[in-house]
Amino acid sequence: MSPKPDVVVLGAGVIGLSIALELDAAGFRVAVVGKDLPGDSNAVDYASPWAGCLWFSYDTDTTKPVYKRDVRTFQRLQEMVHTRPDLVQWYPILSVSGSPMSKDDHPWADDVKVLTAKDGLPGGFAYGTECQTLMMNAPQYMLYLGEQVRARGIPMVKKRLNSVDEAYSVFGKVDLVVNASGLGAQALVGAADPAVYSARGVTVLARAPKVTRAGQVMDVLKATFAGGEQPPPTYILPRPGTDGHVVLGGTYDAENYSPLPSTEIVEGILQRTFALDSNLAPGGTWRDIEVLGVNVGLRPSRKNGQRVELEHRRIGDGATAATPTASLADRGRSVGVIHAYGFGGVGFISSLGAAEDVVALAKEFKTGAPARL
Ligand SMILES: Cc1cc2nc3c(=O)[nH]c(=O)nc-3n(C[C@H](O)[C@H](O)[C@H](O)COP(=O)(O)OP(=O)(O)OC[C@H]3O[C@@H](n4cnc5c(N)ncnc54)[C@H](O)[C@@H]3O)c2cc1C
Repeated sequence: MSPKPDVVVLGAGVIGLSIALELDAAGFRVAVVGKDLPGDSNAVDYASPWAGCLWFSYDTDTTKPVYKRDVRTFQRLQEMVHTRPDLVQWYPILSVSGSPMSKDDHPWADDVKVLTAKDGLPGGFAYGTECQTLMMNAPQYMLYLGEQVRARGIPMVKKRLNSVDEAYSVFGKVDLVVNASGLGAQALVGAADPAVYSARGVTVLARAPKVTRAGQVMDVLKATFAGGEQPPPTYILPRPGTDGHVVLGGTYDAENYSPLPSTEIVEGILQRTFALDSNLAPGGTWRDIEVLGVNVGLRPSRKNGQRVELEHRRIGDGATAATPTASLADRGRSVGVIHAYGFGGVGFISSLGAAEDVVALAKEFKTGAPARL
């Protein structure tokens, strides 16, 4: 039997598994519990396998923790291009916009070409940029993370919890839990966060071997991630390690939990992405795109953005008579929870940097010395 863990990670998405591996590498004994585990679930509220998936920081304030998290992730993913090119690969990306763009829009890139209409931008756009960035194969990357967790002997159990309190006793008594429950954070007793909401994403998986460059309509995406009502985002993301597969997007449907997209939505995605890159069906129309499937995932979003923070609490906090916890005997025990949720549409982009921040907070919990994130 494995020894009792120091930390339990609640959640086995890209955030929970990246954190579990980082804690293990830092010398913590760790275990994972999640209602969905890699490879055994197609639930729409298990966001990670449905991601596009590109690395691209939309933040331009280089002093913000989120930007730093993103860039640390970018640096570490670049190493994987050499070891796992089937999971992470460089691609050029064309970003187009209705308003002027500059190198400052992508401070993390060192090869930005600034473009205007005279460079022949698609879709009637007047401005654009091109630079290199990383594309990931999200479903395969999730299987890879699951294999890494198992290979390191980290216990991982499939279980749905009603309360954060239950996580302190799944593997024997522990004092520290990481709440990486994604959309689950909306209703997790003891840690329920009313700012968490779903932003549904519909994508089309297509085969288009002539597409060699990713593409996105930049101003819509930026505004979408900042929140609020926007026209649907448009993007084309080649998927590494496949026979010319591309992910075509998309939608950002706030508070929409339906797994069934309309034909109108799917056709709109095909039309908008074809206008961005006619190599999706060379010589044809949007109707000639070779569609392999339509996917739906719920982005675990949060009104005030990502939450990566240590909270000191007592077991039983936040529980009511109507929502009792499973660990009544433990009620009142002082424990810690590190929240790591609210990643919305950027979980892969921030994942490894967020995992490093969680390790720093776990050390703070253990030693009392404040972490510097
Ligand atoms: C269409 C689409 C395109 C996207 N494209 C990109 C992209 O290009 N780049 C990018 O970075 N991101 C992208 N994203 C966003 C990305 O998928 C998410 O940000 C990321 O997956 C969030 O990871 P997570 O681990 O927080 O949540 P999840 O992957 O949802 O994992 C949550 C975990 O918590 C568990 N859990 C929840 N509640 C409970 C409970 N009560 N008890 C036990 N376990 C529980 C779940 O079972 C699961 O294991 C996209 C998302 C969608 C839908």
